[in-house]
Order: sequence, then structure tokens, then C-alpha cells
Amino acid sequence: MNKKFLIIISLSAVLLLTGCRAGMKGEPGAGEAAASEKAGEENNERPGEKQEKQESPEESDWQRTPENFRRDLQYMYDNKYRMISLNDYAKGEIGTKAGYTPIILTFDDGRQNNFNLIESEGGLVIDPDCAVRILEEFKNKYPDFNVTASFFLNSNPFGQPEYIEKKLKWLVENGYNIGNHTYSHNKMSALNGEEIRAEIGSVNNIIKAYLPDYAVETLALPNGSNPRDEFVSSMLEGEYKGSKYKITAVLDVGWRPAYSPFDTLTDFTDLYRVTASETNVDNCGMYDYFKSFENNKRERFISDGNPDVVTIPKSHEQYLNKDMAKNKTVNIYE
Ligand SMILES: [Zn+2]
Repeated sequence: MNKKFLIIISLSAVLLLTGCRAGMKGEPGAGEAAASEKAGEENNERPGEKQEKQESPEESDWQRTPENFRRDLQYMYDNKYRMISLNDYAKGEIGTKAGYTPIILTFDDGRQNNFNLIESEGGLVIDPDCAVRILEEFKNKYPDFNVTASFFLNSNPFGQPEYIEKKLKWLVENGYNIGNHTYSHNKMSALNGEEIRAEIGSVNNIIKAYLPDYAVETLALPNGSNPRDEFVSSMLEGEYKGSKYKITAVLDVGWRPAYSPFDTLTDFTDLYRVTASETNVDNCGMYDYFKSFENNKRERFISDGNPDVVTIPKSHEQYLNKDMAKNKTVNIYE
């Protein structure tokens, strides 16, 4: 069985999306050096000044307009995708109802337009065009969509430092997840163990200061840059200024769908994502993959509806990650 065949027929295809709108961007795929530089530069801009209302965003390689983001969500809902959290995926808890495909939304860089608060006469309101408000609209309209997302934060979560506590608490109380995107957004490949611990540990400590009981267990690699092999353990577990961290899921940049969490091909220290953009995605954008599922060119993960059962065809049995499935009933069919 060759590798390509495996990719196509694998249990695959929980889509991990990077996402959407100005600043809700993923990062360039491996090998796109020029674009990578650009993303790095943009990420170094810190939204220092207070902005009451975001400028109207434009569509580009790494950003989505509010209109397109709404269209994306509608497409997912209408085409039988239902959201699960990255944290549940990492634990192998797929509660998606039978016949539907789990999908995971992720937002890198903690831009203000992910979650923007506006002062109005009646008090603070969430900007109608920021990601969180758009997600909430869909949550209210389609309760069975199971709307959720993970936000990966750097040193300045969502701009507006005066509201950081309010935003972080609101996210957790409303069913969203918070992940680590490192303090300075430097490439991991250039860092030693101590530097990696500082990059991850300091963001962990910022979040812990506001959410002492919340465990930040997920990490999105800045520019998809992996640490050198000898420092992977520092990325996954460590201590910084008296606080410990433990990472269970690490996200790469967006370019292809992920496999089932029960597939031996899934590497939780380097998970695939798909970019939510439609421009310059080199046939690896979100709608390219949606189309390949529609045309049956790529097999789509369909949930059996029972989070305690792993259902796989006999031909895939050898790719079952027995450790992940150890507390599940495994249902193998011919
Ligand atoms: Zn980033």
C-alpha cells in the first residue's frame, strides 16, 4: 500500500481551519518562504492604540472578510459539518451526531478583530463584524452546529488590554478554547530549550493570571516552525517562573486535512490544518478540500454518533492507534 493511497483513503479529514478575516489569519504553508516572512512582519505589529471600530477588512491570502466568513459557516452547516473543539479532538472525544463530519476552527495571533469590544450607550457590546460575534450569531441560529473555536494567543491577546480579563473569561464561559501561540512569534527552529520554555511559559502565565483554573493544552506553531528534535520535549512540557505547562496538541500551518485522532498517522505534536483563504492557496484551500469531498475524491470522516465507539473498516485496522482507543469499543466492519 503506497503512501498516497493511504492519504486518500485514510479515516481522515477532520478539517482544522485556520481562519478568517483581517488578522484572523493562518500562516503560510511549508516552503512558502516569501509569504512566511510577510506573516512574521505582520505578527510583530502590536495593536497598540485603542480602536473603537475595526477598519473594513479586505480579502487576502491570510484574511477573510466578515461576509466570506459568514458564507463559510453557512456552507459548513448546510453541508453537514458540525464543530468540535480541538481539545476534544486531542482527547479522542468526538460527539458529532451520526452522519455528520466534525470540523475544528482555529484562529491564530489573537488579533483585535477576532474579539473586539465596543463602548456603546448601553455599555460594552461585541463588534458585530468580529469573529466571536459572527460565531455567536450562528450559535443562536443553529444550536445543533455546536459552534466553538480555539484562539491562539501571543503576548497581547486581542488588543484592548483594558478588556483582556473580560474577554478571556467570556470565551471560556461561552464554550471556546484558548491556546498558546508563543510570546514573540519567533520561529521555534531557531530556539533552544530554555528559550522555548520562556516563549510558551510566559503566554501560559499571562492566561493563568486571569484564568487560574484553565489549562492551556494546545499550541499553534508560529509560521509552522517546529523545534529541533532535541527540544521537542521542552515544547510539550515545562516550567517557567514557577508555573508548569503541558501541551497535548500542536498545530502546524494550514495545507491539508487532519486524520482521525485514532489513526496512527495522526501526530499530535504536528497536526495538519487547512487554510480558510481562497486566494493563492495552491489547490490546498478550504474549498478545494470541500470540493474533493463532494466529488468523492477524498474520503470524508463521517461520525458514527457514539463518542465511546471507534468504527473502522477492516482494511484500516492496522492503522488503529490502540493507545488512543484503549477506553473505547472498537467496531470493525468488512
Ligand atoms: Zn501567527
